[in-house]
Amino acid sequence: MDTVVLRAAFEWKCPKCKAGNFNRAVAVEFTDSDREELLELFDLKEDEVGDMIQAPAIVKCGKCLEKFRTEDDDDFLPDPSEDGE
Ligand SMILES: [Zn+2]
Repeated sequence: MDTVVLRAAFEWKCPKCKAGNFNRAVAVEFTDSDREELLELFDLKEDEVGDMIQAPAIVKCGKCLEKFRTEDDDDFLPDPSEDGE
């Protein structure tokens, strides 16, 4: 069996034409000082800092080619201010 490389992506539905879309996640670039700060802040070892990803700020529908600004899906993750009762 062959192997494939998985890449993180964000799924969204076009509000104009209703087409489903996927956009590849954007890798966050760290400077050396950012990296050192992260290691210290989270008490990590060098090999524990992987790549961080973020959503693209603007996406374009693959079907109708309309562009949209993006926002996080607030319903996807539980709200930490709610205690779940
Ligand atoms: Zn569309």
